[in-house]
Amino acid sequence: MRRRLAAGNWKMHGARADLAEIDALMAAHPHPTVDLLICPPATLLHAAVERAAQHPLQIGAQDCHAAPSGAHTGDISAPMLADAGASAVILGHSERRADHAETSEAVCAKASAAQAAGLTAIICLGENLEEREAQATLDVIAEQLSASVPDTGNANNTVIAYEPCWAIGTGLTARPEQIGEVHDFIRAQLAARFGAGIAEGIRLLYGGSVKPANAAGIFAVPNVDGALVGGASLRAADFSPIITAL
Ligand code: 13P
Repeated sequence: MRRRLAAGNWKMHGARADLAEIDALMAAHPHPTVDLLICPPATLLHAAVERAAQHPLQIGAQDCHAAPSGAHTGDISAPMLADAGASAVILGHSERRADHAETSEAVCAKASAAQAAGLTAIICLGENLEEREAQATLDVIAEQLSASVPDTGNANNTVIAYEPCWAIGTGLTARPEQIGEVHDFIRAQLAARFGAGIAEGIRLLYGGSVKPANAAGIFAVPNVDGALVGGASLRAADFSPIITAL
């Protein structure tokens, strides 16, 4: 049975004062029945890990380099994230694919590095509006999934997040049947590649304008094992009802 996961992606938001939201969130969920993860910007990793230490809350990062160390100014390696106390890292987010021209092959190398460092790789996939309108969604997902997920196929350190680009930060949420179609497809693709046993263990998150008002409907979709939440994860007052809906 897959344990559900509520993951917050703070993106490039948050200063030290905002860590008070972690206290407020955990006061509301002292004994959560789902896994909780917050991925703040790298500047807050250490402080967030300290803040989470007394709580059933994991802290993650938003990217890593594929190499363990080296002359890569401005980058952070997976072993460094693990050393800072992170337990997971978001990889291949559409904003990184767009802003930094990250290819699926680069995402795959980062995911392998993350897993080798003991981190869970949360690998993001998703079509853009043009691709959806051209009925190419499942082709895009198949290509990204196959090229971004390492061959090791380990359900314990692999999470897939389906985030349609057109639903991110737009207030547009994919309809339950659209989410269900893609999540069923991802599960079937994973089963074909890694076998049903492993595929059944890999958690599939939906991301894209998840809000308190639509969370329950999204979580009722088969093969949705949780959410990767952007804007609504920044404030405990918004994230808390999403966690409750899981
Ligand atoms: P929003 O929830 O703000 O749409 O962002 C989703 C996302 O990109 C999470 O990684």
